[in-house]
Amino acid sequence: MNAFLVFLFGTIVGSLLNALVFRLRNRITLWGRSQCPACKAKIHPAHLVPVVSFFFLQGRCVQCGARIHWSYPTVELAGGLLWLGAFLHQPEFARFILEGGFLTYLLFAAAFDWRWRLLPIEPMAAMTFAGLFVQMLDGDLVSSAAGLLIGAGFLGLQYLVSGGKWMGLGDLWLGASIGAWLGWQGMLVAFYLCYLVGGLFALALFVFGIWKRGQRVAFAPFLALGAVGAVWFGPPIAAWFAGALGVA
Ligand SMILES: [Zn+2]
Repeated sequence: MNAFLVFLFGTIVGSLLNALVFRLRNRITLWGRSQCPACKAKIHPAHLVPVVSFFFLQGRCVQCGARIHWSYPTVELAGGLLWLGAFLHQPEFARFILEGGFLTYLLFAAAFDWRWRLLPIEPMAAMTFAGLFVQMLDGDLVSSAAGLLIGAGFLGLQYLVSGGKWMGLGDLWLGASIGAWLGWQGMLVAFYLCYLVGGLFALALFVFGIWKRGQRVAFAPFLALGAVGAVWFGPPIAAWFAGALGVA
């Protein structure tokens, strides 16, 4: 029962993130009822139920029939799964809330980059300092600072080498914030998973001929996915690495 309520809470968080992603980009006030982007009709509260409404409305606005972006139900469902995962992973309430908050931030960054192909710097800079602070309270400030440097450094190098073509400054900040939260080992695991999943994804696009030449693929969703993997499975993967390298 508790797990189900946490999942529901997560889908509501996802629904709010959807609104945040849209309104931050279009400089709309964060207060007031949501509107259809096409016809500006206010959305009826009964049609704001996460995930369910999208399928009930068959993905269209009731007023004008405009298609609702499929990122809406996806982000809502992801929010539910991430909070459920944090609930199952962290028995202690404070740590559960902290982990849920960090995963929500990752979902926000992934959804924003996926939708608009850019990232807002301010929330990521704030999360970088928040990560340092939380790790300092945990007595892991050194690992946190090292993670920050690895995250920002590795992506910064690609930014410099490519002249900003492969990476944006936003990606750099995302790397810094993930490193600050996860520490240096978690950061390495996140990168490993990011390039593994990203590589497989690129291969699939190529094999099925979907990739258009010169198309820019959003990077943040893959890095965020890698970070989620590092949060839940970081220690066993790091131990496996250490074993494979013969240092443990
Ligand atoms: Zn409409």
